[in-house]
Amino acid sequence: MKNYSTTILANNEIAPGYFRMKLLAPGISTQTQPGQFIMIRPQTGLPTMLRRPFGILRCGFLPPECNGLPEREYLEILYKVVGKGTTFLSELHAGDRAEVLGPLGRGFDLGAIGKEKILVGGGIGLVPLFLLAETLIKRGDKVRLLMGGRTRDDILCVTEFERIGVETYVSTDDGSLGEAGFVTNALKRKLDKYPQAEVFACGPMPMLAAVAHICSVDHVPLQVSLEAHMACGVGACLGCVVKGAGHSEQNPRYLCTCKAGPVFTADELDWERLEHKGESCTKGCA
Ligand SMILES: Cc1cc2nc3c(=O)[nH]c(=O)nc-3n(C[C@H](O)[C@H](O)[C@H](O)COP(=O)(O)OP(=O)(O)OC[C@H]3O[C@@H](n4cnc5c(N)ncnc54)[C@H](O)[C@@H]3O)c2cc1C
Repeated sequence: MKNYSTTILANNEIAPGYFRMKLLAPGISTQTQPGQFIMIRPQTGLPTMLRRPFGILRCGFLPPECNGLPEREYLEILYKVVGKGTTFLSELHAGDRAEVLGPLGRGFDLGAIGKEKILVGGGIGLVPLFLLAETLIKRGDKVRLLMGGRTRDDILCVTEFERIGVETYVSTDDGSLGEAGFVTNALKRKLDKYPQAEVFACGPMPMLAAVAHICSVDHVPLQVSLEAHMACGVGACLGCVVKGAGHSEQNPRYLCTCKAGPVFTADELDWERLEHKGESCTKGCA
């Protein structure tokens, strides 16, 4: 894990309210596991702003024609503008500076080689699934992505997944793209067809709970990536705790999403009481 100041290479709106940012990231691509995340904030402008957490969409080395740059390694994030921090990030331009901490947290366990892999993404939850898909495909696994969103505007990067060899299925709540309805309908069908599959999911909590229910009924191995609010990213503020399996009043079992996760196996979590209240920091940070 590194804490460094870096240069933004690009920051473009790729769909209404969604931005894709590319940054120089020394040492990142050799260290990052799929599912890990960074904490980032602009270097100037909002001195009191805490870093915000974002999944790592891609990382790697810039092509040779970028030789003039001080670093060759980059990372990309994809984010939805929802509040003050993401609005401020969206106003940054190529050449601006940002402070980055990462890579952080526990990423995905890649599972058994050669076993069918089903990735379930809800909205911006597709982000950690891209690096995961790329890694699984490189080692020869068959990867299917089930991508869900509220409308067609929330379905992003599907052609990018297809380009690396992922079979994709799209559903939207309003039927404006792909199948109408929840992505979990497609998951049930795929598990009927591929009962030996391993499932990896990231998205809103109700979607994750529904995926966990479906997988538990059929005893399908499931890993989920949680996006609990967090202030520090390193286990200090306890703002991102969720309840772990076996939690009770007498025997409390709390897990820090930033350190024990953000990726958990489904059986590590208490799905009955998982709801994260979003009290961003127990020490009152903003
Ligand atoms: C490990 C991890 C990875 C993440 N990866 C991504 C990513 O790849 N792309 C992306 O767009 N977002 C991601 N998020 C969520 C992102 O961090 C928040 O959207 C961001 O911090 C909001 O900052 P803000 O200042 O703009 O919003 P705020 O002003 O802090 O909040 C605005 C509104 O958004 C809600 N909100 C804020 N954070 C969250 C959250 N984590 N979950 C649900 N609601 C929230 C608040 O309750 C409020 O209603 C990730 C979060 C975590 C913990």
